[in-house]
Amino acid sequence: MQPLDITPFDRELAIRWADGDESFIPLETIRRFCPCATCAGEQDILGNVYRAPSRPYADNSFSLARLDRVGGYGLQPVWADGHATGIFTWEYLRRLTSAT
Ligand SMILES: [Zn+2]
Repeated sequence: MQPLDITPFDRELAIRWADGDESFIPLETIRRFCPCATCAGEQDILGNVYRAPSRPYADNSFSLARLDRVGGYGLQPVWADGHATGIFTWEYLRRLTSAT
């Protein structure tokens, strides 16, 4: 499933999907569900998750500095506090939509 259009607003991200659905995902939700190893923890081959110690968020942790596309499969947000290692696939973003 590919997005036709992605529009970042002040506090949320609007995504229009190829099937006509629209997602509005709060930026705070996207940041809290960041799938990178630092935020989500790393998994070993047995499926054990070694979660990194949770770091306190700063005032600007939920603001976007930039939004990069990663190939054809997802987005890599650059947050205003400098964090930029999370890659969000389209599938993951759609799942976040139903989680909120
Ligand atoms: Zn992260």
